[in-house]
Amino acid sequence: MAKRQWGETLYVLAQKGVMTEEMQQVAEKEGVSPEYVMSEVAAGRVVIPVNIVRPRAQYDGIGKGLTTKVNANIGTSLGTSGVEREIHKLQLAVECGAHAVMDLSTGPDIDGVRQALIKDCPVAFGTVPIYQATVEALEASGAFIHMTPEQMMDAVRKQAEDGVDFMTIHCGLTREAIERLRSHPRIADIVSRGGSFLTGWMLQHDKENPFFERFDEILEIARRYDITLSLGDALRPGCVADATDRGQIQELIILGELVDRCRQAGVQVMVEGPGHMALHQIEMNIKLQKRLCEDAPFYVLGPLVTDIAPGYDHITSAIGGAIAASAGADFLCYVTPAEHLSLPNDEDVRMGVIASRIAGHAADLAKGIPSAVQRDRAMGMARKALNWTKQRELAIDPRPFEAHPHTRTEEGCSMCGPYCAMRIVSDHLGKPMTHC
Ligand code: SF4
Repeated sequence: MAKRQWGETLYVLAQKGVMTEEMQQVAEKEGVSPEYVMSEVAAGRVVIPVNIVRPRAQYDGIGKGLTTKVNANIGTSLGTSGVEREIHKLQLAVECGAHAVMDLSTGPDIDGVRQALIKDCPVAFGTVPIYQATVEALEASGAFIHMTPEQMMDAVRKQAEDGVDFMTIHCGLTREAIERLRSHPRIADIVSRGGSFLTGWMLQHDKENPFFERFDEILEIARRYDITLSLGDALRPGCVADATDRGQIQELIILGELVDRCRQAGVQVMVEGPGHMALHQIEMNIKLQKRLCEDAPFYVLGPLVTDIAPGYDHITSAIGGAIAASAGADFLCYVTPAEHLSLPNDEDVRMGVIASRIAGHAADLAKGIPSAVQRDRAMGMARKALNWTKQRELAIDPRPFEAHPHTRTEEGCSMCGPYCAMRIVSDHLGKPMTHC
């Protein structure tokens, strides 16, 4: 890839009509024309997370007309996980088909952990810089409240230099948004970790959010490295009863205005969204985000459609994610069965990625994305042909085929035994059991 000059972000290049390798690769993967990708990047409806200091072999586009993408959160936490274990989770998430991973580490040596994780990461790598500023302030002074705006900016800068491709910045959490939170009380208040750190800091110091006040500096860093900013939703609802309240919408309005500033600065941007939310509110929330944020790609954290299923939140979020993505959300953050219970283990990571991929694919079918439609059609044909090898190839997760190894033959499977409907109907219609 030709070395890009300062400020030559994919957004800027697309607007000038310059086709890049990343755009071509995304087009090839998605089965759309390179010109389509370029025009959508230029319009800000598609982002391709990259960092000019970390060229990768594969890139993915997130946004309109493309398949729904999935992110897996990993990262150390104090005393419960080390870097080796998190590297393994990263590899597992990628093996299961995650298109991005985010390092949410809050354990010791955050720089070392991030550098180890990002080193061989083949997919887009994201971070939340406020975590680093918070943890370092706590380590240095015994209280996160002592962090300074400069430490917050340093975390953004350091992570950019390390090659991070996208960053969650909680820049829409303003004093006014906190006032809305007070005037329209919630049950769970704030459940975003970054949001809670910033709220504590802002209230303690009686100051505005530094990420909001110094947004121009963040834009300069993002433009230098072509980092995609992911505008964080600090006020995402943390229980179904809190969804779509004044605080959440106040923050979304600010995020929409910051999307405009990103585009004026030539920076790729996407917006983060809820959270916990009942089924009937999801479509309206997606449409509202797209309207207020000028069609910026939408990255949703769930939504979890009920609060009462701990241990099964990969399912509650897959239900919400499928509805959200079919209504226009573009990027799903996985939720694992360990959500609300503990740091996820390997099996939780696997289940979380697979559940989100199912949700994304179900939405892609509903949106009529050609590659998704073709894959399901091929699976239907393979089932009818009792072609187990093909079915395994087409499955989102091939493992269940290995878990039941001796139950399938060319005559059917052990479910119906000699009464296999696929075979019986073919026999009587005189249709050959063609192997596709
Ligand atoms: S035996 Fe029953 S479940 Fe198995 S392939 Fe035939 S119809 Fe499907």
